[in-house]
Amino acid sequence: MKIFTTREELSDYLRQLQKHSKVIGFVPTMGALHEGHLALIRIASSQSDAVVCSIFVNPTQFNDPKDFEKYPKTIEEDIQKLESLKCDVLFLPEVKEMYPEKQLWHFNLGELEKVLEAKSRPGHYQGVTQIVKKLLDAVKPDQVYFGQKDFQQFLVIEKMVSTLHIPVKLIMCPIVRDKDGLALSSRNVRLSPEQREQALALSQSLALVKKQFNKKTINLLKSDAITFLEMNGIKPDYFEICNAKNLKAASSKNTSKLIALVAAYVGGTRLIDNMILK
Ligand code: AMP
Repeated sequence: MKIFTTREELSDYLRQLQKHSKVIGFVPTMGALHEGHLALIRIASSQSDAVVCSIFVNPTQFNDPKDFEKYPKTIEEDIQKLESLKCDVLFLPEVKEMYPEKQLWHFNLGELEKVLEAKSRPGHYQGVTQIVKKLLDAVKPDQVYFGQKDFQQFLVIEKMVSTLHIPVKLIMCPIVRDKDGLALSSRNVRLSPEQREQALALSQSLALVKKQFNKKTINLLKSDAITFLEMNGIKPDYFEICNAKNLKAASSKNTSKLIALVAAYVGGTRLIDNMILK
């Protein structure tokens, strides 16, 4: 696996591949790689001639500086995992490489900037769009892979890519879960064994709503889910049932695609999860 730390070296290498019509698949990550990330790499490999993974903990998307400082870093293990999957290229820049100077950035996300993660983490998606634009400019992939785990992030990037006419295909990959249902997340390493048990309530609350979907109103489904989380000692940030196309809160079940999304604190760790309802 080739490892590049500058945009220029990365671009020079990839432009050679593109001259030979190689299809480039790209998987952006913040590292501390787990099976969820590796699934994206595997899917990308099966659909591309060359796979580029990036590892960059992007400071501009953290609204909480402590969360940024505490973000897990396991670069040696990450490199081994990527090599074992025969990932072709790792882009591993320093902060000063991506942000040589302070840069003003604002991208109009419309309603997506006002709900769920955007509401709870002001500025988060400005940081996400800022770094994803820079990464797409450097890699110029044919296709880029994201997890359904960050569902709102996918819609945000979809909006940016279509507004700016960036020529790349976006591919959403399913959520990878542990056997007991907990969605894999780099932040799970911060959970004590007891907190990990409690964290199961996130996926369980989603499964409960899916199971009871035909039997209860939207409002009742939501309030039951919140009660369920609280009973398990978890502090919900939100539990919403939304139109999966635009994340507007659903008031009825008539919408063609519905998704339930949850964010909650387990101790000091904020976790998110979601499930398509229909
Ligand atoms: P992150 O390193 O958390 O920024 O995640 C990098 C990519 O991996 C994003 O597209 C995430 O949605 C995706 N991802 C993270 N966790 C999972 C998971 N459990 N299943 C599938 N994709 C995931």
